[in-house]
Amino acid sequence: MKAPLLQVDQLRVQLPSPRGTVHAVRDASFTVAQGEMLAVVGESGCGKSVTAQALMNLLPPAAEVSAAAALFDGQPLLVGHYPRGMAMVFQNPMATFNPVLTVGYQIAEPLRVLHGYTRHDAEREAVRLLERMQVRDAAQKAHRYAHEFSGGMLQRAAIAMALACKPLLLLADEPTTALDVSTQHEVMQLLAELRSEQQLGILFITHDLGLVERHANRVAVMYAGQIIETAATSNVISTPQHPYTQALLAALPAHNRGKRLYSLEGSPPDLRQPPPACAFTARCPQAMAHCSTQSPPVMADSQHARCWLHAGDLCDD
Ligand code: SF4
Repeated sequence: MKAPLLQVDQLRVQLPSPRGTVHAVRDASFTVAQGEMLAVVGESGCGKSVTAQALMNLLPPAAEVSAAAALFDGQPLLVGHYPRGMAMVFQNPMATFNPVLTVGYQIAEPLRVLHGYTRHDAEREAVRLLERMQVRDAAQKAHRYAHEFSGGMLQRAAIAMALACKPLLLLADEPTTALDVSTQHEVMQLLAELRSEQQLGILFITHDLGLVERHANRVAVMYAGQIIETAATSNVISTPQHPYTQALLAALPAHNRGKRLYSLEGSPPDLRQPPPACAFTARCPQAMAHCSTQSPPVMADSQHARCWLHAGDLCDD
Protein backbone atom coordinates (compact mmCIF):
# COMPACT_ATOMS: atom_id res chain seq x y z
CA MET A 1 0.00 0.00 0.00
CA LYS A 2 1.25 3.49 -0.87
CA ALA A 3 2.50 5.51 2.10
CA PRO A 4 0.32 8.49 2.97
CA LEU A 5 1.43 11.95 1.90
CA LEU A 6 1.25 13.12 5.51
CA GLN A 7 1.46 10.91 8.55
CA VAL A 8 1.24 12.38 12.03
CA ASP A 9 1.44 10.24 15.16
CA GLN A 10 0.68 11.58 18.62
CA LEU A 11 1.08 15.26 17.91
CA ARG A 12 1.17 17.34 21.08
CA VAL A 13 1.08 21.12 21.32
CA GLN A 14 1.34 23.05 24.56
CA LEU A 15 0.90 26.81 24.56
CA PRO A 16 1.97 29.06 27.43
CA SER A 17 -0.68 31.43 28.77
CA PRO A 18 -0.68 33.87 31.71
CA ARG A 19 -2.87 31.47 33.69
CA GLY A 20 -1.09 28.20 32.92
CA THR A 21 -0.06 25.94 30.06
CA VAL A 22 -2.82 25.16 27.54
CA HIS A 23 -2.71 21.55 26.32
CA ALA A 24 -4.08 22.55 22.93
CA VAL A 25 -3.43 19.32 20.98
CA ARG A 26 -3.22 16.03 22.82
CA ASP A 27 -1.81 13.01 20.98
CA ALA A 28 -3.54 13.67 17.67
CA SER A 29 -2.80 11.01 15.03
CA PHE A 30 -3.96 11.20 11.43
CA THR A 31 -2.93 10.73 7.81
CA VAL A 32 -3.69 12.51 4.54
CA ALA A 33 -3.21 10.62 1.27
CA GLN A 34 -2.35 12.16 -2.10
CA GLY A 35 -5.54 13.40 -3.73
CA GLU A 36 -7.52 13.12 -0.50
CA MET A 37 -9.42 15.74 1.46
CA LEU A 38 -9.35 15.07 5.20
CA ALA A 39 -11.70 17.34 7.11
CA VAL A 40 -10.82 18.16 10.70
CA VAL A 41 -14.05 19.14 12.41
CA GLY A 42 -14.86 20.56 15.83
CA GLU A 43 -15.96 23.56 17.90
CA SER A 44 -13.74 26.63 18.27
CA GLY A 45 -10.85 26.01 20.61
CA CYS A 46 -10.78 22.23 20.02
CA GLY A 47 -7.25 22.36 18.59
CA LYS A 48 -7.93 22.01 14.87
CA SER A 49 -6.32 25.30 13.78
CA VAL A 50 -3.41 24.82 16.19
CA THR A 51 -2.80 21.43 14.57
CA ALA A 52 -2.45 23.04 11.13
CA GLN A 53 -0.31 25.86 12.48
CA ALA A 54 1.99 23.32 14.17
CA LEU A 55 2.45 21.49 10.85
CA MET A 56 3.26 24.77 9.09
CA ASN A 57 5.56 25.88 11.92
CA LEU A 58 3.48 29.02 12.40
CA LEU A 59 3.12 28.83 16.18
CA PRO A 60 4.98 31.28 18.44
CA PRO A 61 8.47 30.14 19.52
CA ALA A 62 7.25 29.55 23.09
CA ALA A 63 4.86 26.80 21.88
CA GLU A 64 6.01 23.26 22.69
CA VAL A 65 5.40 20.93 19.75
CA SER A 66 6.26 17.23 19.71
CA ALA A 67 5.15 14.09 17.92
CA ALA A 68 6.05 10.40 18.04
CA ALA A 69 6.34 10.66 14.25
CA ALA A 70 5.58 13.27 11.61
CA LEU A 71 6.36 12.41 8.00
CA PHE A 72 5.55 14.47 4.93
CA ASP A 73 6.22 13.05 1.47
CA GLY A 74 8.44 10.44 3.09
CA GLN A 75 10.61 12.99 4.95
CA PRO A 76 10.51 13.93 8.63
CA LEU A 77 8.75 17.22 9.28
CA LEU A 78 11.36 19.33 10.99
CA VAL A 79 10.24 21.49 13.86
CA GLY A 80 11.60 24.98 13.28
CA HIS A 81 11.49 24.81 9.48
CA TYR A 82 8.81 26.04 7.11
CA PRO A 83 7.84 22.84 5.27
CA ARG A 84 8.30 23.02 1.50
CA GLY A 85 5.50 21.31 -0.34
CA MET A 86 2.80 22.59 2.03
CA ALA A 87 0.82 25.80 1.69
CA MET A 88 -1.93 27.27 3.81
CA VAL A 89 -5.11 29.21 3.14
CA PHE A 90 -6.60 31.18 6.02
CA GLN A 91 -10.10 32.28 6.98
CA ASN A 92 -9.46 35.97 6.35
CA PRO A 93 -7.88 36.53 2.92
CA MET A 94 -7.45 40.27 3.64
CA ALA A 95 -4.86 39.35 6.28
CA THR A 96 -3.06 37.11 3.76
CA PHE A 97 -2.17 39.92 1.34
CA ASN A 98 0.11 42.87 1.85
CA PRO A 99 -2.12 45.91 1.20
CA VAL A 100 0.59 47.94 -0.55
CA LEU A 101 1.59 45.32 -3.14
CA THR A 102 -0.57 44.22 -6.06
CA VAL A 103 -2.24 40.84 -5.78
CA GLY A 104 -0.51 39.61 -8.94
CA TYR A 105 2.93 40.57 -7.61
CA GLN A 106 2.27 38.60 -4.42
CA ILE A 107 1.12 35.51 -6.32
CA ALA A 108 4.19 35.74 -8.56
CA GLU A 109 6.62 36.08 -5.66
CA PRO A 110 6.75 32.40 -4.55
CA LEU A 111 7.19 31.38 -8.18
CA ARG A 112 10.28 33.58 -8.44
CA VAL A 113 11.69 32.93 -4.98
CA LEU A 114 10.94 29.22 -4.57
CA HIS A 115 10.85 28.00 -8.15
CA GLY A 116 13.28 30.24 -10.07
CA TYR A 117 10.77 31.74 -12.53
CA THR A 118 11.82 34.91 -14.34
CA ARG A 119 9.78 37.96 -13.45
CA HIS A 120 7.93 37.82 -16.76
CA ASP A 121 7.13 34.09 -16.51
CA ALA A 122 6.07 34.45 -12.87
CA GLU A 123 3.64 37.25 -13.77
CA ARG A 124 2.21 35.20 -16.61
CA GLU A 125 1.79 32.16 -14.35
CA ALA A 126 0.14 34.32 -11.66
CA VAL A 127 -2.49 35.37 -14.19
CA ARG A 128 -2.98 31.73 -15.22
CA LEU A 129 -3.48 30.72 -11.58
CA LEU A 130 -6.03 33.51 -11.09
CA GLU A 131 -7.83 32.29 -14.22
CA ARG A 132 -7.76 28.73 -12.86
CA MET A 133 -9.43 30.04 -9.73
CA GLN A 134 -12.11 31.59 -11.96
CA VAL A 135 -11.19 35.20 -11.22
CA ARG A 136 -12.73 37.19 -14.06
CA ASP A 137 -10.48 39.60 -16.01
CA ALA A 138 -7.50 37.97 -14.31
CA ALA A 139 -4.86 39.93 -16.27
CA GLN A 140 -6.35 43.23 -15.07
CA LYS A 141 -7.10 42.02 -11.56
CA ALA A 142 -3.47 40.97 -11.12
CA HIS A 143 -2.56 44.69 -11.12
CA ARG A 144 -5.03 45.55 -8.39
CA TYR A 145 -4.68 45.65 -4.60
CA ALA A 146 -6.43 43.43 -2.06
CA HIS A 147 -8.92 46.10 -0.99
CA GLU A 148 -10.21 46.26 -4.59
CA PHE A 149 -11.38 42.62 -4.45
CA SER A 150 -14.61 41.23 -3.00
CA GLY A 151 -14.22 38.70 -0.15
CA GLY A 152 -14.93 35.68 -2.36
CA MET A 153 -12.66 36.91 -5.16
CA LEU A 154 -9.84 37.59 -2.70
CA GLN A 155 -10.14 34.10 -1.20
CA ARG A 156 -9.77 32.67 -4.73
CA ALA A 157 -6.67 34.84 -5.15
CA ALA A 158 -5.36 33.56 -1.79
CA ILE A 159 -5.76 29.99 -3.03
CA ALA A 160 -3.96 30.99 -6.25
CA MET A 161 -1.11 32.35 -4.11
CA ALA A 162 -0.99 29.07 -2.15
CA LEU A 163 -0.89 27.13 -5.46
CA ALA A 164 2.06 29.26 -6.58
CA CYS A 165 4.08 27.42 -3.91
CA LYS A 166 3.33 24.24 -5.95
CA PRO A 167 2.17 22.37 -2.85
CA LEU A 168 1.52 18.66 -2.51
CA LEU A 169 -0.61 19.42 0.54
CA LEU A 170 -2.90 22.39 1.08
CA LEU A 171 -3.98 23.27 4.60
CA ALA A 172 -7.22 25.20 4.41
CA ASP A 173 -8.25 26.71 7.76
CA GLU A 174 -11.94 27.67 7.63
CA PRO A 175 -11.40 29.02 4.09
CA THR A 176 -15.08 29.69 3.46
CA THR A 177 -16.33 30.83 6.87
CA ALA A 178 -16.27 34.54 5.97
CA LEU A 179 -18.07 34.00 2.62
CA ASP A 180 -21.73 33.93 1.66
CA VAL A 181 -23.28 30.51 1.08
CA SER A 182 -23.13 30.44 -2.73
CA THR A 183 -19.49 31.68 -2.79
CA GLN A 184 -18.68 29.05 -0.14
CA HIS A 185 -19.84 26.31 -2.46
CA GLU A 186 -17.96 27.74 -5.45
CA VAL A 187 -14.71 27.88 -3.48
CA MET A 188 -15.22 24.36 -2.12
CA GLN A 189 -15.95 23.12 -5.63
CA LEU A 190 -12.67 24.64 -6.84
CA LEU A 191 -10.78 22.95 -4.01
CA ALA A 192 -12.40 19.62 -4.89
CA GLU A 193 -11.38 20.06 -8.55
CA LEU A 194 -7.77 20.83 -7.57
CA ARG A 195 -7.75 17.75 -5.36
CA SER A 196 -8.71 15.44 -8.19
CA GLU A 197 -6.88 17.23 -11.07
CA GLN A 198 -3.55 17.67 -9.31
CA GLN A 199 -3.80 14.85 -6.78
CA LEU A 200 -3.47 17.57 -4.15
CA GLY A 201 -3.85 16.44 -0.55
CA ILE A 202 -6.08 18.83 1.43
CA LEU A 203 -6.40 19.19 5.19
CA PHE A 204 -9.69 21.07 5.47
CA ILE A 205 -10.34 22.62 8.87
CA THR A 206 -13.93 23.55 9.56
CA HIS A 207 -16.80 23.55 12.00
CA ASP A 208 -19.31 23.07 9.13
CA LEU A 209 -20.36 19.43 8.82
CA GLY A 210 -22.58 20.30 5.85
CA LEU A 211 -19.52 21.26 3.77
CA VAL A 212 -17.67 18.21 5.03
CA GLU A 213 -20.44 15.90 3.91
CA ARG A 214 -20.35 17.28 0.36
CA HIS A 215 -16.62 17.59 -0.19
CA ALA A 216 -14.36 15.58 2.17
CA ASN A 217 -13.23 11.99 1.69
CA ARG A 218 -12.54 11.37 5.37
CA VAL A 219 -13.27 13.13 8.62
CA ALA A 220 -11.36 13.50 11.88
CA VAL A 221 -13.57 14.88 14.66
CA MET A 222 -11.68 16.83 17.34
CA TYR A 223 -12.79 17.55 20.87
CA ALA A 224 -10.72 19.14 23.65
CA GLY A 225 -7.46 18.73 21.75
CA GLN A 226 -8.00 15.06 20.89
CA ILE A 227 -9.20 13.30 17.76
CA ILE A 228 -12.18 11.35 19.01
CA GLU A 229 -13.45 9.80 15.79
CA THR A 230 -11.91 9.17 12.36
CA ALA A 231 -13.62 7.51 9.43
CA ALA A 232 -14.69 7.83 5.82
CA THR A 233 -17.12 10.75 5.53
CA SER A 234 -20.04 8.57 4.50
CA ASN A 235 -19.56 6.37 7.58
CA VAL A 236 -19.29 9.29 9.98
CA ILE A 237 -22.43 10.85 8.54
CA SER A 238 -24.49 7.65 8.35
CA THR A 239 -23.29 5.88 11.50
CA PRO A 240 -21.46 8.24 13.85
CA GLN A 241 -19.94 6.22 16.69
CA HIS A 242 -18.85 8.79 19.25
CA PRO A 243 -21.58 10.57 21.26
CA TYR A 244 -19.97 13.94 20.44
CA THR A 245 -20.12 13.26 16.69
CA GLN A 246 -23.72 12.12 17.16
CA ALA A 247 -24.48 15.42 18.91
CA LEU A 248 -22.88 17.46 16.09
CA LEU A 249 -25.01 15.65 13.52
CA ALA A 250 -28.18 15.94 15.60
CA ALA A 251 -27.70 19.73 15.48
CA LEU A 252 -27.54 19.82 11.64
CA PRO A 253 -30.77 21.13 10.08
CA ALA A 254 -30.24 19.21 6.81
CA HIS A 255 -30.18 15.91 8.72
CA ASN A 256 -33.13 16.58 10.96
CA ARG A 257 -35.89 17.98 8.78
CA GLY A 258 -39.12 18.25 10.70
CA LYS A 259 -37.37 17.38 13.97
CA ARG A 260 -36.39 19.60 16.83
CA LEU A 261 -32.66 20.32 16.56
CA TYR A 262 -30.47 18.96 19.34
CA SER A 263 -28.44 21.44 21.30
CA LEU A 264 -25.44 20.18 23.24
CA GLU A 265 -25.47 21.43 26.82
CA GLY A 266 -22.37 22.66 28.64
CA SER A 267 -19.00 23.72 27.31
CA PRO A 268 -15.70 21.99 26.55
CA PRO A 269 -13.24 21.51 29.44
CA ASP A 270 -10.51 23.98 30.35
CA LEU A 271 -7.46 22.76 28.45
CA ARG A 272 -5.12 24.14 31.10
CA GLN A 273 -6.35 21.22 33.20
CA PRO A 274 -7.76 18.64 30.80
CA PRO A 275 -9.82 15.86 32.39
CA PRO A 276 -7.76 12.74 33.18
CA ALA A 277 -9.98 10.34 31.20
CA CYS A 278 -12.69 11.01 28.58
CA ALA A 279 -12.88 14.77 28.04
CA PHE A 280 -16.53 14.56 26.96
CA THR A 281 -17.78 12.93 30.20
CA ALA A 282 -19.41 16.05 31.66
CA ARG A 283 -21.56 16.57 28.54
CA CYS A 284 -22.11 12.99 27.43
CA PRO A 285 -25.67 11.63 27.70
CA GLN A 286 -24.28 8.08 27.71
CA ALA A 287 -21.47 8.53 30.25
CA MET A 288 -20.71 5.57 32.53
CA ALA A 289 -18.97 5.49 35.90
CA HIS A 290 -15.53 4.59 34.54
CA CYS A 291 -15.59 7.25 31.77
CA SER A 292 -14.26 9.92 34.11
CA THR A 293 -11.51 7.76 35.61
CA GLN A 294 -10.18 5.59 32.77
CA SER A 295 -9.15 6.92 29.35
CA PRO A 296 -10.86 5.25 26.42
CA PRO A 297 -8.28 3.36 24.34
CA VAL A 298 -6.16 5.42 21.96
CA MET A 299 -7.45 4.81 18.48
CA ALA A 300 -5.61 3.79 15.35
CA ASP A 301 -6.17 5.86 12.21
CA SER A 302 -9.08 3.79 10.98
CA GLN A 303 -12.80 3.81 11.47
CA HIS A 304 -12.76 4.04 15.19
CA ALA A 305 -14.11 6.15 18.01
CA ARG A 306 -12.29 7.04 21.20
CA CYS A 307 -15.10 5.99 23.49
CA TRP A 308 -15.76 3.21 26.00
CA LEU A 309 -19.02 2.38 24.20
CA HIS A 310 -16.90 0.96 21.36
CA ALA A 311 -14.02 -0.53 23.33
CA GLY A 312 -15.46 -4.01 23.84
CA ASP A 313 -14.41 -5.50 27.19
CA LEU A 314 -11.20 -3.51 27.62
CA CYS A 315 -12.50 -1.61 30.65
CA ASP A 316 -11.19 -2.65 34.09
CA ASP A 317 -14.62 -2.31 35.77
FE1 SF4 B 1 -19.46 9.25 26.69
FE2 SF4 B 1 -18.00 7.55 28.13
FE3 SF4 B 1 -17.85 7.50 25.48
FE4 SF4 B 1 -16.78 9.51 26.86
S1 SF4 B 1 -16.13 7.36 26.91
S2 SF4 B 1 -18.01 9.69 25.02
S3 SF4 B 1 -18.28 9.74 28.51
S4 SF4 B 1 -19.65 7.03 26.73
